[in-house]
Amino acid sequence: MSASPNEVVFAAVGDVHGNMNRMVNDLRHQAEVRHRQFDFVLQVGDFEPHRDEADLATMAAPAKYRHLGDFSAYDKARRGFPWQVYFIGGNHEPYGYLDTHPEGFELVRNCHYLGRVGVVDLHGLRVVGLSGIHSEERFRAQRPPLSALGSVSNKDFTYFNERDVEQALELGHADVLLLHDWPSGIIDPRDAADFEGQRRSPSHDTVGNEYARLLVDALQPRLVLCGHLHKAYRTSIQHPSGKTTEVRCLGSVGQGDGAYGVFHFKGESFHETFLTGRD
Ligand SMILES: [Zn+2]
Repeated sequence: MSASPNEVVFAAVGDVHGNMNRMVNDLRHQAEVRHRQFDFVLQVGDFEPHRDEADLATMAAPAKYRHLGDFSAYDKARRGFPWQVYFIGGNHEPYGYLDTHPEGFELVRNCHYLGRVGVVDLHGLRVVGLSGIHSEERFRAQRPPLSALGSVSNKDFTYFNERDVEQALELGHADVLLLHDWPSGIIDPRDAADFEGQRRSPSHDTVGNEYARLLVDALQPRLVLCGHLHKAYRTSIQHPSGKTTEVRCLGSVGQGDGAYGVFHFKGESFHETFLTGRD
């Protein structure tokens, strides 16, 4: 399907976990069959841009999940991103690298970290992102400084805290909000059975976290994108203001199912086409 020229068309990508080559190949293929390049790409965290083993050592993850992944070839400019890619941090990131610029930065050409809390204007769309996941114990604590790396748990770098949420709230509004974990209270009771007993989701009403939800309710974005659970899910939230937020939870690039979405924004409305991992 081709798009009219004044539409903004972007792709959304779920957890990448270092599979940048597959992400680029899959999206390139989609752009070809659509006869329309993406204006940009948004990614919801667990991107895993490790330049080397030293970066990898700063990621919080069990040994079996520690893989250098594809990024070092992009870092060495052997490979490149064909579109501007904007990502937030998840709970598996080389925070020893990303936290050198907590305000966000361009890692390599066309590849941008949005920071712990970030906002960017892309083709007239205001995109806000919050990195990390929620921990009740760590929420009111300060994040350790980079100098503490190695002497505290890498996990301590994976959480957002109260200050981050306040900073995001101060941004006032967003068209698109990027979150790693899901907002709470979004599972339709009719889908509950499908969620019970899943990894990290003991019950459908404990999926997600309340601070992500608070941000959705305050910023009232047109679209929320999230990942983390490696499961595709779509729903919408009606706000008392009359506004509606569409929520799209994405699968992971490695597992393929529902890892991508393509969104066409035009004026006040948008439509979407959802892809599977590859076709
Ligand atoms: Zn993940």
